[in-house]
Amino acid sequence: MRKKLVAGNWKMHGSLAENAALLAALKPALEGIKAVVCVPFPYLAQAQAALAGSSIAWGAQNLSEQSKGAFTGEVSASMLLDFGCQYVIVGHSERRSLYGESDELVASKYVAAQAAGLTPILCVGESLDERESGVTEAVVARQLDAVIKLAGVGSLAKAIVAYEPVWAIGTGKTASPEQAQAVHAFIRSKIAALDADIAKQLVIQYGGSVKAANAAELMAQPDIDGGLIGGASLVADEFVAICRAAAK
Ligand code: PEP
Repeated sequence: MRKKLVAGNWKMHGSLAENAALLAALKPALEGIKAVVCVPFPYLAQAQAALAGSSIAWGAQNLSEQSKGAFTGEVSASMLLDFGCQYVIVGHSERRSLYGESDELVASKYVAAQAAGLTPILCVGESLDERESGVTEAVVARQLDAVIKLAGVGSLAKAIVAYEPVWAIGTGKTASPEQAQAVHAFIRSKIAALDADIAKQLVIQYGGSVKAANAAELMAQPDIDGGLIGGASLVADEFVAICRAAAK
């Protein structure tokens, strides 16, 4: 039985004071419920200090594909480990579209994360144009194939996949539970064709305007195993309600 997992993506939001209040609210409310917060790099130490010993894990939103060296401004997987990270988001659509990260670069970051012992949360998903042109499955397959080619299907035993339709991220337009389920089932069947056991245990999160009000319906879908939550992860009551809906 797959255990659902909800991760928050704070994006480039927060301050020491705001984070302290948010983490202080999340900690008791999520006692016993496994969840993750992916915070901006400068706040990893704060998350580590505030969340150590709790059921909430923490992680980052990006990493370098390089392990060390003259790469000004980059952050390596081992640096994330120094701050107790267990998870790191790779291939978020904002990284792909705003910072030009190719499928191949995303795959290299995924490999770097796993090589250090971090669990990558690999984001895949189509744009509105791509959905309207009927190539959703082809796009998601291409994004997954880049990772499978570099790291092998076996690597998915130690990864999370997040299906995030780009048109639903931060737009308030959630994919319907049926639309999301259809793509999740596609992802699982694609992996199953290569390795049935890995497909069965793969956690596939949905992300895109998830909030307390629509979480239960999405989490009830058979192939949705949790969520990657942007905006609503910054509001304690919303994030807690989503995590509780997933834990039911
Ligand atoms: C995200 O940032 O990955 C995301 C899904 O954002 P939102 O929940 O705000 O749509």
